[in-house]
Amino acid sequence: MAKRDYYEVLGVGKSASADDIKRAYRRMAMKYHPDKNPGNKEAEAKFKECAEAYEVLSDQEKRQRYDQFGQDGLRGAGMHDFSRMNVEDIFGMFGLDDLFGGMFGGGGRGGRGAAGGRTRAARGYDLETTVKLTLNDVAKGVEKTIEFTRQDVCSDCNGTACAAGTKPGVCHTCGGHGQVAKGGGFFQMVTTCPQCRGSGQIITTPCKSCGGTGHVPKKRVVNIKIPAGVHEGQGIRVGNEGEPGRNGGPRGDLYCYVRIEPHEFLQRDGNDLVAVVPISFSQAALGASIDVPSLDGTKQLKIPAGTQYGSVFRIKGQGLPDIRSGRSGDQLVQITIETPVKLSDQQEELLREFAKTENKTVSPKTARFFEKLKKNFGGN
Ligand SMILES: [Zn+2]
Ligand SMILES: [Zn+2]
Repeated sequence: MAKRDYYEVLGVGKSASADDIKRAYRRMAMKYHPDKNPGNKEAEAKFKECAEAYEVLSDQEKRQRYDQFGQDGLRGAGMHDFSRMNVEDIFGMFGLDDLFGGMFGGGGRGGRGAAGGRTRAARGYDLETTVKLTLNDVAKGVEKTIEFTRQDVCSDCNGTACAAGTKPGVCHTCGGHGQVAKGGGFFQMVTTCPQCRGSGQIITTPCKSCGGTGHVPKKRVVNIKIPAGVHEGQGIRVGNEGEPGRNGGPRGDLYCYVRIEPHEFLQRDGNDLVAVVPISFSQAALGASIDVPSLDGTKQLKIPAGTQYGSVFRIKGQGLPDIRSGRSGDQLVQITIETPVKLSDQQEELLREFAKTENKTVSPKTARFFEKLKKNFGGN
């Protein structure tokens, strides 16, 4: 089966920095982690695919070979076969705690406790939420109160997961070592203990409040400042508001994704605002001062005599601020012309009088069009 492009797998560009790749991998690994998708084989496959992409793109030499020669360049480069590994081992190999280099080839595996298990500190999961904004919020920037649910340390057991007055016991499977030997003879393999997941300890009497996890879901309210000029779908990172870390690791982050509610009259085009405004054909012909909608109420706009259908008028500096420079876009007013319906007898008579006077000077475009038509196809 052909492998997907590694950059595509992690959703980064070819020129992504090491940091970008790290961040992308972390987010993907969180998203597809089996703990978050229990029993989902597809998520597990994606999780492994991401790990493989990360193994290559996080290694300067492998990345270079891959950029130059694609999959062929990686032959003999010392790749793991992730499809045959279990998720726990992959996560431990370069999970969040291990994201800072040196995880391959045996380096950087420091910090192993006396029990020999993988009990190092690990950063918590990132969380995602959305924040709804109006165009007026976008114009001025806004502070929003966000309410969401995240895991917090269980207050009954202080996160130990043990019922009051009890302590964790030694894991019988590994005898407290956190690792077990598999197979026999010469090719013995040491892997993380499946019972205690490497901690060497097991909870004998789980805390009832948190079901032995040490965490409980709690409502959390934070205020976040949203800068003027944000765009639909943009994510605002709020540091340290994600899920709690393991073994004393820091919390993950919260990503707030911007949703902008549609405006009754205005549409956004980059930093410009566009309003489509209908006028009558006599206003178009004679010129008029019309009311047009803007972000703060209505504005007067003078349109000249002879305004055409689709004409666009620009009101300078009345759009949205650019998120970086702060410079304001414009407001555009696009004119549509409504043909009169249900004429009174008097109006019809006036129009018929008017029609008799229509000629090249009154409607030059129409006149030119029909002249051309006659020349090409004949007729009257
Ligand atoms: Zn508890
Ligand atoms: Zn164990």
